[in-house]
Amino acid sequence: MELIKDLPEVFEDFAEQRKNSFLAVKKIKEAGKPVVGVFCTYLPQELPAAMGAAVVGLCSTSDETVADAEKDLPRNLCPLIKSSYGFAKTDKCPFFYFSDLIVGETTCDGKKKMYEYLGEFKPVYVMQLPNTQNEDGYEMYRKEIIRFKEKLEEHFQVEITEESIREAIHQKNEERKALKGLYQLMRLDPLPMKGSDLFHVLYGSTFKFDKEQTIAELKAIKQKVEKEYAEGKYLEKAPRILITGSPIGGGAFKVVNLIEENGGAVVAFENCTGAKSTEELVDEEEPDVYKALAERYLNIGCSCMSPNPNRFELLGKMIEEYKADAVIEVVLTACHTYNVETFGVKRFVTEQHGIPYMAVETDYSNGDVGQLNTRIAAFLEML
Ligand code: SF4
Ligand code: SF4
Repeated sequence: MELIKDLPEVFEDFAEQRKNSFLAVKKIKEAGKPVVGVFCTYLPQELPAAMGAAVVGLCSTSDETVADAEKDLPRNLCPLIKSSYGFAKTDKCPFFYFSDLIVGETTCDGKKKMYEYLGEFKPVYVMQLPNTQNEDGYEMYRKEIIRFKEKLEEHFQVEITEESIREAIHQKNEERKALKGLYQLMRLDPLPMKGSDLFHVLYGSTFKFDKEQTIAELKAIKQKVEKEYAEGKYLEKAPRILITGSPIGGGAFKVVNLIEENGGAVVAFENCTGAKSTEELVDEEEPDVYKALAERYLNIGCSCMSPNPNRFELLGKMIEEYKADAVIEVVLTACHTYNVETFGVKRFVTEQHGIPYMAVETDYSNGDVGQLNTRIAAFLEML
């Protein structure tokens, strides 16, 4: 596929993708296609994809509806949960509005309790996610995935065949490979593109519904970036920062902007929307599709797992691969699991990898920008 546009324009398009998809999802509904709204990386998207449904991410990242949410929910709650609930309550999110079924998982306590209230606005289905990656956990999640498939079949009155699941697995793997192909260009030193531009493509691609086209676009962007790099277009050398922690995007993306504005280069995102949701493929050779899905998805190293060795494994691998000079962890306010884990992550990064680490706690408001700016500037100066 030929990319007619220049890279800055392409990055801009992806940054606007979520908004641009509001109309696309309306058209999907008008065409009679089902829409499944999801909240978390643990959801095996291959199942709704296998029945031809569009999958839309409902995690909200703006503080627009937080005040409405706080009328019902505690103030001392993660902004992602408050914002998501607020958009549902006020009916301001078109993706929520057009979703025929909302699916959540029992991840952190705040989120799973919030799903109970979401059920008052829309049909909600909750998958029971084990919090440990052992043999029993994999077996339990395998059964949960089958239960989810049966729920989809009953709710939408369709049959989901094993063959269609295999096709969806293959396509999702191809998408993961294309995303990885692009973000792995950030192993280069000097960098071929800004971390913020990369993030907009990673995030924006989750709101594209034509997966074949998305894969082709991602490959074309990669080619274009490689070509420009070969022609000598790259960024000036700067301290290489790896981002980890709670999901970012929207209001919390200010941290990435502040790093770049203060002369840092964001090289990789370990959190959801970055490598956490993309790095591992589903085993296409495994005869039992449900086992293959359970293993791949339960392996995700989110802090709701206890213990959580896979997060440290991926983080260590990425520190090396992306030649990180430092790690900055973004923790959303009141996200207890990631916040408690900062203690272990700090030790891991500083003692085992010998590079500096800083954790910042933030929400979707702009109230802390000045303070964050001071801390980030001081941290980068030290590198
Ligand atoms: S951080 Fe954990 S709970 Fe949140 S979306 Fe990612 S996997 Fe799900
Ligand atoms: S950021 Fe933390 S508290 Fe918020 S939904 Fe995700 S895991 Fe839960």
